[in-house]
Amino acid sequence: MTPTAVGFREASARAVLDPTLREAIRRVTDNLVARRAQVTAELPHFNALRDRAKRIKEHTLANLDRYLEQLEGAVHARGGHVHWARDAEEAAACVVRVCREAGARRVAKSKSMVTEEVELNRALLEAGMEPVETDLGEFVVQISGDRPSHLIAPIIHRRREDVAELFARHLGTPPDASVPILTAAARAHLRQTFLGADVGITGANFLVAETGTVVVVENEGNARMVTTLPRVHVAVAGIEKVVPRLADLAVFLPLLVRSATGQRLSAYVSFLTGPRRPGEMDGPDAFHLVLVDNGRSRMLADPELREGLQCIRCSACLNVCPVYERAGGHAYGSVYSGPIGAVLTPALTGGRGLLDLPFASSLCGACRDVCPLRIEIPRMLVALRARARWTAAASWERRAARMAGWLLSRPRLYRWASAAVRALEPLVRRVPAGPLHRWARGRDLPRLSPTPFHRDSRR
Ligand code: SF4
Repeated sequence: MTPTAVGFREASARAVLDPTLREAIRRVTDNLVARRAQVTAELPHFNALRDRAKRIKEHTLANLDRYLEQLEGAVHARGGHVHWARDAEEAAACVVRVCREAGARRVAKSKSMVTEEVELNRALLEAGMEPVETDLGEFVVQISGDRPSHLIAPIIHRRREDVAELFARHLGTPPDASVPILTAAARAHLRQTFLGADVGITGANFLVAETGTVVVVENEGNARMVTTLPRVHVAVAGIEKVVPRLADLAVFLPLLVRSATGQRLSAYVSFLTGPRRPGEMDGPDAFHLVLVDNGRSRMLADPELREGLQCIRCSACLNVCPVYERAGGHAYGSVYSGPIGAVLTPALTGGRGLLDLPFASSLCGACRDVCPLRIEIPRMLVALRARARWTAAASWERRAARMAGWLLSRPRLYRWASAAVRALEPLVRRVPAGPLHRWARGRDLPRLSPTPFHRDSRR
């Protein structure tokens, strides 16, 4: 997760001044929120599914070592290979090695946040290979040199006109092409990629421990092409993606699809279990599963942040977040944006963004209420805020808190200081320049009560 050059405060301050960005985000998120509300309301046992999913995730994370070993054994038993990556560098290097051994020149990818997290495309390019994103949104991101700004809608920040202009340059479509023309052009272009790719790379929505199955949920069909046409399939997944049994998917799939896109069923759900077996018509000759830690073990060991590993990346929390809507995904400076991104980024990286991201929330709780796992994002943000307060960079706040404690424990001095502040109040309100003036510009400074509280309380 490469940090961007600017922090959240600066980037979001710029983003809120961009009405086009806000309009683009609102158009998509309003639609997703409305559809989610409709399809969850029609499922009478939706909340029971949420409770069940929570229990499964809690149980799985409490026994993660056991289920990961079971998963590894099941993948081996079906002729696949399992690789363990401690961090982003190891994960990217492992995939590059597998691609090299397969003699790959072109690599077709389907949408995967974890490959963004480990910066796989950069590693493949440096190794002389050509990674091609085949999800339409990710394809746009790739050819424009952009970054995804939403977990499931990577180009939520772009308008159709932007994409038409981009495709006119790259694919030769008319500059004012309609959406059907643009998608047809992308489909024709990407078909050659599927046919010419030596290796296909996917993420995984779920990994089933008992069968060694990789589950990929999508709507465009590109992931199915990526996993059936190239000779080698590499699935890259965070270790938290494991679920114990195939039957657990009956709980998670409806929750994921309804919370993410507001559909009853996504167009494609692929269950991929090892390489092609004798007698099978399609599928890869070889299958590799790369299990990525990259900070997840540390997060698992952290009682305050562990719950964040239950996330199934549905993005429902982003769509209801007032801060995300105004700031946009890029302001978070990470592949994981929105409320859950504000938790995941510092938690997975051991502190990056700690001074900014946990404060990128009004703590309204909408993220928790809409989350299919009811993940307590506000609680985790508060815990991270407490940590941020005590970091070296926030030491001025620590000193101020210590000074306040010192003052409050000396009543006589406190009364004197309180009288002094009262006397200086008119002066403070007239400060024409300097840092205090800048701070006060966007805030209403309430008038002090004419009599101090300690005097009122004695009446
Ligand atoms: S935290 Fe919950 S709502 Fe947000 S992406 Fe994860 S599962 Fe979805």
